[in-house]
Amino acid sequence: MVLSNYDGRWCMNNLPTEKKDPDELAAMRQDQLELGNERWLEHARQSDRKKRVRGLCCGVVVTLVLIAAASYWGHQKVKENNRRTCLFHIRNMQVAVRSHNSVHGIGAGQPYDMGEVLEFLKIEMPQCPSGGIYRYDNIAPLVGSPVLRCSCPGHKHEDTEGW
Ligand SMILES: [Zn+2]
Repeated sequence: MVLSNYDGRWCMNNLPTEKKDPDELAAMRQDQLELGNERWLEHARQSDRKKRVRGLCCGVVVTLVLIAAASYWGHQKVKENNRRTCLFHIRNMQVAVRSHNSVHGIGAGQPYDMGEVLEFLKIEMPQCPSGGIYRYDNIAPLVGSPVLRCSCPGHKHEDTEGW
C-alpha cells in the first residue's frame, strides 16, 4: 500500500510491488482515475440532492413559521379590538345609568333597576365581543365605580376616577 497523488488528491492505493509495463500501469491509473471521477460525480449528485431536500425543508419550515406568526398577530389584533369595544360598552352603560338615575332622582348608593334604564333609553344590554359576562349591582354606583364589570381578563378601564 502506498500513498500517491497522481490524480491530484492524496489517496491510498494497493499498487503491486512488482515491476509492470509502463503502459499497463498508465492504463490502471487511467481506470482508477475514471472510477474516482465516477464516484466523485455520484457523490456530487447525491450531495446536490441532499442540498435541494435541505433547501426545500428550510423553505417549508420558514413558511410555517411565517404563517404561525401572522396567525398569532391577527389573533392578538382581534383580541385587542374586542377589548376596546368592551371598554366602549362599559363606558356607554356608565353614561346610560348615570343619565337615567339623574333624571329619576336616584343618587349614588340608592337602588335602581337596570331593566328600567334599558327601557328608558330604548337600548339593549351590550354584549362583550370576547364572550365575557357583564355583572352589575342593583345599587347606583358610587362616583369612580364602574357600573359594569366584564368577566374577561383585561376588560377593565385603568382609570375610572370621576366616573
Ligand atoms: Zn369584555
